[in-house]
Amino acid sequence: MKITGIETCGLRGATPEGGWSNELKPDDVVHTLVAVHTDEGPVGVGSAFTSESLVRGAIELLAPHLYGQDPREVERLTETLHQTAFWMGRGGSLTHATSAIDIALWDIAGQALGRPVGALLGGRYRDRVRPYASVLMDEEGPMTENLLALAAQGFRAFKIGWWKFGRVDARTDERTVAAAREAVGDALLAVDAGGSEGYFPGSLSWAKRTARMLADYDVAWFEEALAPDDIDGFVELRASSPVPISGGEVLTRRQSFAPYLARRAFDIVQPDTTKGGGLSESRRIGWAAQDAGVRLIPHGWNTAIGLAADLQLSSALAHTDLVEYKTGSEYVDALVEGGWTLDTDGMLPIPSAPGLGVSLSRETLERYGTRPDFARPRG
Ligand SMILES: [Mg+2]
Repeated sequence: MKITGIETCGLRGATPEGGWSNELKPDDVVHTLVAVHTDEGPVGVGSAFTSESLVRGAIELLAPHLYGQDPREVERLTETLHQTAFWMGRGGSLTHATSAIDIALWDIAGQALGRPVGALLGGRYRDRVRPYASVLMDEEGPMTENLLALAAQGFRAFKIGWWKFGRVDARTDERTVAAAREAVGDALLAVDAGGSEGYFPGSLSWAKRTARMLADYDVAWFEEALAPDDIDGFVELRASSPVPISGGEVLTRRQSFAPYLARRAFDIVQPDTTKGGGLSESRRIGWAAQDAGVRLIPHGWNTAIGLAADLQLSSALAHTDLVEYKTGSEYVDALVEGGWTLDTDGMLPIPSAPGLGVSLSRETLERYGTRPDFARPRG
């Protein structure tokens, strides 16, 4: 089997807000699908968290290392992309695009071997996983309504994040968390400060004080409490925090995670499989995390293909029993045929069909894709 083509499809028209100070607009393309075609039929699909034009530029550079190669040799191909990227944008757009290509290659390998990707990643520890409903914070009224609606949909775990948290005063922080706790009852509740927003003002002393407040509300973890590069700050925060400390969503490549794991900066590490290097890299980060006594819970503020990849990843990592479900996004809810259905325990079944085990909704692609004929098998 040989790789014969690679194509891209940006998603626009329903891009949800990200909580960024320079807020996203519906037509901004920040998620791009990638399809890898083969001479024997299988088409693999991946997702990258960046614009389509950057992915296309990256593919122009990377394609010579892929065309004509056997797509089932996923690790070798992805590692070759990393190894050839030293001078050309490694860790940035090239790594984001590599993430989508890697996911697509695993999808092909699974289809070719008739196995779900998780089985190929090492084996399935679980066949369902708890998705936590990820929402942006808001004033108490609308936020409570949103959380109650998600609970009614069957979600049993929640995360609130960004907005004014850490940006106004301690009273606003506590009022917001108290309202969310009241809304979700005993359910799992995590809090995300969104420290990867540009010029996030949260200081180490703010983070330490806030961690103590969050413990009063039995918060499951405190995410991105500091700017993402502040490794010394995270080490100190984690050493004193009564709640687990998490982060890593903007880090890419396993080598970037290594010092955070070695120095015990996080209790939970959160690579984004559509950014950090794909399933190959997330798996290696997951294995390294396990050896360091750190949990991996994937960052999933992306697409249904990213979620499908995270489901397969979570099946193959011993301690990954949660995935992020970005709520209120058509790119997650409606991008794959049949959508996603929680079972009565609020769990998501992990597809067991070959590859990622999902197929793209043609209707949704026609509505939001820059290329409606994307990923169609070529005769
Ligand atoms: Mg986050």
